[in-house]
Amino acid sequence: MKALDELTFDNRFARLGDAFSTHVLPEPLDEPRLVVASKAAMALLDLDPAVAETSVFAELFGGHKLWAEAEPRAMVYSGHQFGGYTPQLGDGRGLLLGEVYNEAGKHWDLHLKGAGMTPYSRMGDGRAVLRSSIREFLASEALHALGIPTSRALCVIGSSTPVWREKQERGAMVLRLAHSHIRFGHFEYFYYTKKPEQQAELAEHVLNLHYPECREQPEPYLAMFREIVERNAEMIAKWQAYGFCHGVMNTDNMSILGITFDFGPFAFLDDFDAHFICNHSDHEGRYSFSNQVPIGQWNLSALAQALTPFISVDALKEALGLYLPLYQAHYLDLMRRRLGLTTAEVADQQLVERLLKLMQNSGVDYTLFLRHLGDEPAALAVARLRDDFVDLAGFDAWAEQYKARVARDGDYTQEQRRERMHAVNPLYILRNYLAQNAIAAAESGDYSEVRRLHDVLTRPFEEQAGMEQYAQRPPDWGKHLEISCSS
Ligand code: AMP
Ligand code: MG
Repeated sequence: MKALDELTFDNRFARLGDAFSTHVLPEPLDEPRLVVASKAAMALLDLDPAVAETSVFAELFGGHKLWAEAEPRAMVYSGHQFGGYTPQLGDGRGLLLGEVYNEAGKHWDLHLKGAGMTPYSRMGDGRAVLRSSIREFLASEALHALGIPTSRALCVIGSSTPVWREKQERGAMVLRLAHSHIRFGHFEYFYYTKKPEQQAELAEHVLNLHYPECREQPEPYLAMFREIVERNAEMIAKWQAYGFCHGVMNTDNMSILGITFDFGPFAFLDDFDAHFICNHSDHEGRYSFSNQVPIGQWNLSALAQALTPFISVDALKEALGLYLPLYQAHYLDLMRRRLGLTTAEVADQQLVERLLKLMQNSGVDYTLFLRHLGDEPAALAVARLRDDFVDLAGFDAWAEQYKARVARDGDYTQEQRRERMHAVNPLYILRNYLAQNAIAAAESGDYSEVRRLHDVLTRPFEEQAGMEQYAQRPPDWGKHLEISCSS
């Protein structure tokens, strides 16, 4: 266990120099205070969880203090936003404080979001509000607990600093952890500004630090791109299987590591709805729930374009062709497990699709349906869940098909079935209304609800005594919350 001043830095990205990032000091928040910290994330840095309660912790992650070895930098990148190319973006309100390595030898970027203006702030104020910082914190830690690759969050620091959005709010900072903060947009920036030397330097950096095994391949850059395609296919399959909607899949929000990254107006589905749009500024539904799948490929082609100086177009196309089949295989595998199936049959895809269509038409709660499907033997479970459906004949037909499929699947006890299904079907997810309740309390100075919700979400598959209120369908007001990009 380490104290805060015992972190070991090795700032590899900062050493790439001024073409890649700019030195900027964090702008401190007034009266910084701990809102919530993740013990699990602290453990990634070998930090003693007790240090979260110290005033130095709030000062460090509220922008007041810095380690002598930290080298805070704002990174430059660009990206495709809602399909159009924006030539210059960059860390407009976040700083890479430095890279820390832990006792196991793993490197973690410490990235402070909401740390004030940088050369890339454009019209923005460099700040993040408490509400969006809490949402990013909860989502990162909840996705991780579900087994979905994601950036992590160490803590949220609140303050009395006024920040203007639609109304006056309070500034906050979230400390994000990831093995890298390099985005698709980093490669696009050097490609479109025609800086081949720096682009090559960036590619070498990513290859050496994050994809060293690709060095062994005859074409290391191609092997790296293929790996990025594979990781994205798997990540998006998990989003789809667990009902996660990212909301702003611009290429500047896509991580080179294939992790969920840069949380804005994200949401987890309550009722199953393939057409769900979580960002109310996304009028065309470009980033709707079901569009995440083709958009994942679109984003990878934008990255592929930026890699054309290194890899032949034919090889890039071939690698891109891996995306959909891989996505489908991962998705179907997860959905089979969510349905409690241990074997594979060709018609399983249709079984899943039929169920989702029925859920869509009846507005059935996605998470709770699948959780309760494992509570009892298949025949009893479907009989109990039947009432949630409007198209009873349709559901009965599906239920017959499902029961027959379960019967063919194998010979196991209900105990085994329940255990297996509950291990992949969460009881608790980060529903928008739960986040909203926690945010409302935090905005009035009470952080206990954020902490409790975070705690519940770190063990989503485990039934927790006294936490029934977190495993309910949302109240009506909770289904229609409008979340925008303004954060
Ligand atoms: P996002 O939509 O949060 O991924 O941000 C897109 C771009 O806008 C990034 O370059 C951000 O750094 C920048 N940005 C977002 N909010 C702010 C803000 N309040 N101040 C400065 N830059 C911002
Ligand atoms: Mg972003």
